[in-house]
Amino acid sequence: MTNNKPLVVITGASSGFGAEMAKLFNADGFPMLLLGRRVEKIEALPLNFDNVMIEKADVTDKDEFEAAIHKAEKVYGKTDLLINNAGLMLLGNVWKQDPKEWQTMLDTNVMGVLNGTQIVLNDMMEREHGTIINMSSLAGKKTFVNHAAYVASKFGVHGLSETIRQEVSDKNVRVAMVAPGAAETELLTHVTDDSALSDYESWKQTMGGITLDPKHVAQSVKFIYDMPQEVNIREIDIAATRQD
Ligand code: NDP
Repeated sequence: MTNNKPLVVITGASSGFGAEMAKLFNADGFPMLLLGRRVEKIEALPLNFDNVMIEKADVTDKDEFEAAIHKAEKVYGKTDLLINNAGLMLLGNVWKQDPKEWQTMLDTNVMGVLNGTQIVLNDMMEREHGTIINMSSLAGKKTFVNHAAYVASKFGVHGLSETIRQEVSDKNVRVAMVAPGAAETELLTHVTDDSALSDYESWKQTMGGITLDPKHVAQSVKFIYDMPQEVNIREIDIAATRQD
């Protein structure tokens, strides 16, 4: 069943911020394409599945990503909002980190965003309507020890987002980003360097152990989208109040 709301595509919907965004847009009745590699986790979300398509897609595989979006567009119409949220953070020092971890992060966090953007952008420019919101990080604008490759990937997201925004603003297409501080999602569960994890735990105590609730990050994404098309909130930085 479809309604008159446009299609929202969310990458990385299987956990963390993406799962919270899925709940928020679902509560508002938007048809959604929810993407991730662990589709069973998306299927287990507490959603009304009437207007929801779930597809397995790795954002680093452009063909698979594109096929999923085209499949949803046949049912729900063209994508009006793409949220490039999927991402990975593998902490470690450059002198000892496995270069494969750098590659995975750059492929997912940077190439994944470029892939998604290219898939939807031509249609958005042609229709002179559409929004792309990229999930960056405060690590996209300031540095953190143990985060060199992750910081490189998120500085990349900041740079490419603002560049593309400038390129398409005259086509009435919005490109925005959200830059959150620390939040406890599944992000840290992939870190293989124990010393980086214990450094994180010590740092967390400097803010009283209180990190962001992922649902507030989801609300900031929706706030950007809910503005009229002629208003582009280019960036929201959001962090726990006590974060430095
Ligand atoms: P989670 O680990 O909980 O979620 C990451 C999501 O990305 C998962 O749904 C995962 O799905 C998906 N994903 C990872 N790699 C791929 C891939 N190759 N293809 C498709 N999907 C992929 O972390 P968060 O919710 O915290 O992270 C979401 C975004 O927010 C990331 O971009 C992250 O860098 C950013 N961020 C997070 C912060 C935090 O402190 N938590 C702070 C600032 C930014 P699956 O494994 O099922 O494919």
